Amino acid sequence: KNRPKNLHAMLKETAQKYSSHEVLVMNGNRLTYKEMHEKVEQIAGNLQNSLCVKKGDRVALILGNSIEFCLLVFACAKLGAIVVPLNTRLREDELSFMIQQSNSQILVVDDEFLEKVESMRDLDSIINVQYFFLVGNRTPNRKDYLPFEILEQPSSGADVHVTEEDPLFIMYTSGTTGLPKGAIGSHFGAIHSAINYEYVLKTNDKTITLIAVPLFHVTGLIGQLFHMVKVGGTLVIMRRFKTEEYIRLTVEENVSFLFNVPTIYNMMMAHSDFSLYSYSKVNCIAYGGAPMSSETIYKLKKYFPNSYLHNAYGATETSSPATIMPQIFNESKVDSVGLPVPVGEIRVVNDLDEPCKPGEVGELLIKGPMIVEGYWNNEAANQTSFHNEFWRSGDLAKIDEDGFVYIVDRKKDLINRGGEKIFSIEVENVLYNHPKVYEVAVVGVPDPLFGEIVKAVIVPESDETIESQEIKDFVAERLANFKVPKLVEFVSELPRNAAGKIIKNVLKNLQHH
Ligand code: ATP
Repeated sequence: KNRPKNLHAMLKETAQKYSSHEVLVMNGNRLTYKEMHEKVEQIAGNLQNSLCVKKGDRVALILGNSIEFCLLVFACAKLGAIVVPLNTRLREDELSFMIQQSNSQILVVDDEFLEKVESMRDLDSIINVQYFFLVGNRTPNRKDYLPFEILEQPSSGADVHVTEEDPLFIMYTSGTTGLPKGAIGSHFGAIHSAINYEYVLKTNDKTITLIAVPLFHVTGLIGQLFHMVKVGGTLVIMRRFKTEEYIRLTVEENVSFLFNVPTIYNMMMAHSDFSLYSYSKVNCIAYGGAPMSSETIYKLKKYFPNSYLHNAYGATETSSPATIMPQIFNESKVDSVGLPVPVGEIRVVNDLDEPCKPGEVGELLIKGPMIVEGYWNNEAANQTSFHNEFWRSGDLAKIDEDGFVYIVDRKKDLINRGGEKIFSIEVENVLYNHPKVYEVAVVGVPDPLFGEIVKAVIVPESDETIESQEIKDFVAERLANFKVPKLVEFVSELPRNAAGKIIKNVLKNLQHH
């Protein structure tokens, strides 16, 4: 009831309460809540005064994890502008589609990704962008980049009336048509999710978390950044995950709360420095974004006997968690993703949209304040994905007698590679343009580290021989690296059912090379 009225108000409240607490820590830079709040005010003031950023304007980010990323999100929130955080692993064509589709007027880029932006500009593929900002010290070819520092000059702007229903971000997720869809998250959804995490994980102003997952996905942005700002905790930022550094920082920075995709925990536990963790202050471990094997969960429990373990299930469309495992460790429920978040409602339905009985498997539908408003300029996707206020997850699930949810399988044709989602159709569409490919099906096959990896099964055009490498290179030139098939297999025909539909389950089990 007393929740903040928008994301910026949430920062302001925490900054008043815990002004001298550290909030953002990265590479020797340490900002308190007071300092963060002041910087956010200045950035917002400059965006408003010098660049005339208004409520509803879109600001795209191609930024790695950084303090600047965090400040910009809150500055945009103050102005009611919509941030569009983009996946830095994507290639130029994928990024320019999103910048165009969201009609972003401002683009902020890290110098690490400057080449991508330069080549989009050479191709004039992002003509709607009026201002380019550069974070970092490199000198770009063009002279019209504005340095990020100018946003930090003293400035104050007029107050903007931002309500909790206003959009806060557009985050792109892959789509069943092969084209990404921009999920529109509101201030309300984000704040609601932050409160849910606080409530279930019992975090507070003493909580210190280390972020190694990207800030451009909901887990990092909401589950860690917004969540810490809600409770007055601290976010120690890593630019990217490196096992040794992650372990070292956890110990050095007295980190108490970890939140990662399963792949990261597997990498950590396989590392020889892992024993250092016995010196750590970790007492709360969350995981999500992909299924975690019970073997990994038991291992974590063994290493961290005094930590609570929380499976968190959600999606971009649910602004982070839809279900969370509460503070229990019950062996019979170790595979469960927990209970619906407070005020969230879930339903499992069969193919006729009728409710399933406990234990019966069906599609998981989710409703509640954390569900996004819909997709940006995409009526067709809104029609298929939302139904009577429920979002259709495309995940197959069951609910037990006690109300605990289990994710069993997927209905959507998607590959989950260590938390990064790849819609098969996107890779298939690319491969259908290869002159020697007659037919192709792209599937996920199990992998001990990534959960799933991408495999392409190809029927070559008659009389053609193709090398696997040719296929991999062809995709790598067009799509982000994580979407490139790790395995390629050639067959003379694809297995089909009576209706002519390719039976992908059979392909997952084929012998691969
Ligand atoms: P992030 O993008 O920050 O990793 P996310 O994984 O919650 O967050 P999406 O990338 O939109 O969000 O992917 C959502 C899909 O990921 C779900 O529909 C489901 O298939 C899978 N998923 C997410 N969390 C879990 C989990 N705890 N267990 C099993 N599958 C999960």
